[in-house]
Amino acid sequence: MITVAKPWLPNRDALDGYLDGIYERGWLTNNGPLVQELTRRLQAWLGVEHLLLLGNGTLALQVAIRTLGVDVPLNGKPAEAITTPFSFIATASALKWKGIEPVFVDIDPHSWNLDAQYVAAAVTPQTRVIVPVHVFGNACEVEQIQAVAQQHRLKVIYDAAHAFGVDYRGQSLLNWGDAATLSFHATKAFHTVEGGAIVFKRAEDLQRAEQIINFGQSSPGRVDELGINAKMSELHAAMGLCVLDEMDANLAARQRVWEAYHRAFGQQFALQRWNPSASHGYTYFPLLLDSEQQLLDTMHRLAVQGIQTRRYFYPSLDTVTSLGKHPAQRISIDTAARILCLPLHAELVDADMLKIIAGVKGV
Ligand SMILES: *Cc1c(COP(=O)(O)O)cnc(C)c1O
Repeated sequence: MITVAKPWLPNRDALDGYLDGIYERGWLTNNGPLVQELTRRLQAWLGVEHLLLLGNGTLALQVAIRTLGVDVPLNGKPAEAITTPFSFIATASALKWKGIEPVFVDIDPHSWNLDAQYVAAAVTPQTRVIVPVHVFGNACEVEQIQAVAQQHRLKVIYDAAHAFGVDYRGQSLLNWGDAATLSFHATKAFHTVEGGAIVFKRAEDLQRAEQIINFGQSSPGRVDELGINAKMSELHAAMGLCVLDEMDANLAARQRVWEAYHRAFGQQFALQRWNPSASHGYTYFPLLLDSEQQLLDTMHRLAVQGIQTRRYFYPSLDTVTSLGKHPAQRISIDTAARILCLPLHAELVDADMLKIIAGVKGV
């Protein structure tokens, strides 16, 4: 069985070394030394300043929302967030869970990101925030989005769950927006089993979020505001430190698979149009097929050969009933129906890749 994703399992002795330290200290959670070390290491590795580690990427979105105050109702009505319908469900459900109405704006048919040219027209008196996604790690039109946000005095939170290590114009893409959120779930390129992070633009927002993720306490027994428990544990940080130590090998292996697919399919299929000012994170390999029927046929043909593929991201979020009733976003619905993600992880060997490529081509 060739799975679509496979978690990177770091050297077991290295992990044991960190676990020994945890046993010696008896310090398991609450901003322990390994969480602090991973914070510093990630800030350096990513080239960012105000990074906060959390329990997962969904909490990262929710805590960023709370920290920036964009969930506060306006004129007795729920706040609105302008967001993309082409993403994982967590992007929109995190908003809804915080009492924010997602307002979907259609995607660009080539980059598959929120189309910045439609954002201004979707702004209402209720709008407080724009929540774009760098989908599959492809950088959004960040300058245009920032201009609209400034003009309408809105905050911007990027769901950057796929954009670990992506640079834009020579610096981290995560430095764009009032906040950018990451997921370190086991299936992501960099992971801590479960985990996530927020990169804030401003130091004061980081300080506020540090309290929010610790029940709103500024010190033991002193509660300054409504909080939640969203902390990362020492065991999760230990895994993160080990995975980060091996990140170069992990990325090199993923890049190799990505490039083999690109050579095989670059002419035959429509691929995502990459932002020319951004680097690549090699997080996914999505193919845009001609029709949903062709997608289903391809998926089935691969499945019978023991090759798992995924319909990331399906269905288009404007059609998900638990998110409320929304106008249909035509391009997102059409695109989501035809995108298939191929297996992409560091353990794929040449024989796997040949089998997958032949399977997709139907030969
Ligand atoms: C994985 C993912 C999330 C959720 O992250 P978790 O760590 O699983 O909670 C959010 N948004 C996007 C786009 C994702 O791919």
